[in-house]
Amino acid sequence: MDKQEILRLLISEPWEELRLRADAERQAAKGGHVFCRGLIEFSSICRRNCAYCGLRAQNAKAHRYRLKAEAILEAATESVAHGADSIVLQSGEGACDAMWLAEVVKEISDTLRVPVTLSVGERNERDYELWKDAGAARYLLRHESADTELYAKLHPGYALKDRLRCLSILKSLGYETGGGFIVGLPGQTMDILAEDIALCVHLKLDMAGIGPFIAQTDTPLAGATSGSIDLCLRALAILRIAMPNANLPATTALATLDPKMGQIRGLMAGANVLMPNFTPREYGSAYSIYDKKKRVDICCAARDIEFAGRSHSLKM
Ligand code: SAH
Repeated sequence: MDKQEILRLLISEPWEELRLRADAERQAAKGGHVFCRGLIEFSSICRRNCAYCGLRAQNAKAHRYRLKAEAILEAATESVAHGADSIVLQSGEGACDAMWLAEVVKEISDTLRVPVTLSVGERNERDYELWKDAGAARYLLRHESADTELYAKLHPGYALKDRLRCLSILKSLGYETGGGFIVGLPGQTMDILAEDIALCVHLKLDMAGIGPFIAQTDTPLAGATSGSIDLCLRALAILRIAMPNANLPATTALATLDPKMGQIRGLMAGANVLMPNFTPREYGSAYSIYDKKKRVDICCAARDIEFAGRSHSLKM
């Protein structure tokens, strides 16, 4: 699928036709089951200053925490007991020591026997290799924006090419690799959004997570208009059509902007994954990447999946 076709689908394809096509692709390639990843946001510490994110280092109001290994294992055990099929460990960037995280990964994969996904940002090849050897099977690293200039503006001190290099290292190490981007970032044009989609396809990602931009009060983008849910769903549907076999989540950002229908609409527009949150409740609100972030718990995930007429293996 080339950029012209992506733009056409984004702008002028009637929505219901696009959605039905994506839904049929999803059914043919992935079936009706919705995979549920247990998300554990284990640290809010971050060294970067992404303009949109509440965890940015310069945000003095952010509450910083790092869970102890035992607390992470406990949350992972609870996730699996409730039917999560894998564990996602996410944090800000540079939040932890590589060796420490390797031990946590090893403990989870040895005792719980589920795939472990890491989402801890850009690190060097040695760290990625260490974690792979410890048992991490998957890695999520969104490219965030495919436009070199917009990327540089929103991520002071960092460059898109370095992020892409990390993605290529992760793939070469044998990780199942996930990427993605934010829809409706201030400065994103329709053309850039088409590039974002084309880049995911070009990278041959195994997974792609996309969500609408939501402003966070204590960031330079406070007060900026949120991304459009409709446009995000269009982008999701196009990703499904262009990458039939990819695992595509209906994200928490969709659930935040539309708590009742956001994730259901995602599931009906090509998504086949949800990521219910198992971060211990006392820390959940400190992981404030954007304002009013909804806590998608298992009850909410199960309800949305059932409403969409699909199956899951969650246990309440
Ligand atoms: N530090 C990790 C994880 C970051 S948080 C990393 O660099 O990969 C996970 C994702 O939340 C980010 O990749 C980003 O796409 C998204 N995010 C952060 N702030 C956001 C905001 N204000 N609105 C929408 N999505 C946001």
